[in-house]
Amino acid sequence: MDMKQIYTQIVMEHARESAHRHDLADATDSERGHNPSCGDDITLHIKREGDRIEALSFTGHGCAISQASTSLLCELVEGKRVDEAKEAIETFLAMIKGEEEDDDVLEEQLGDAVALKDISHMPQRVKCAVLAWRTLNDMLEKENEEK
Ligand SMILES: [Zn+2]
Repeated sequence: MDMKQIYTQIVMEHARESAHRHDLADATDSERGHNPSCGDDITLHIKREGDRIEALSFTGHGCAISQASTSLLCELVEGKRVDEAKEAIETFLAMIKGEEEDDDVLEEQLGDAVALKDISHMPQRVKCAVLAWRTLNDMLEKENEEK
């Protein structure tokens, strides 16, 4: 199996079933992300404790790319510090824009989310892939301002 097939398999698995697709009863914040061009509509639920993301889950619906990307985001940043999560988001957005292509950097920073790398060559799917990441970024910025 080459890397492309492995990546496709990771995306399909996360799109089909995600351990992070559920409500969060003790969430400290929730934020909706909507991509009208495709119909993706997700809501992220976060539980923050200080500068740490204790839990991150999502509800909603959308295409396979958007759902897989949201699931991969939750898996990646849960348990991380806010500054680490922001760095990961920045790296992910750079990957999707085709600005960061170093596989070693991407894998270290993004883990399995590197499976979405090929989206950088599919302009019509970019909004689907970045939806959850932008939504989380907005949440983290917002909470910073409130302090
Ligand atoms: Zn979509």
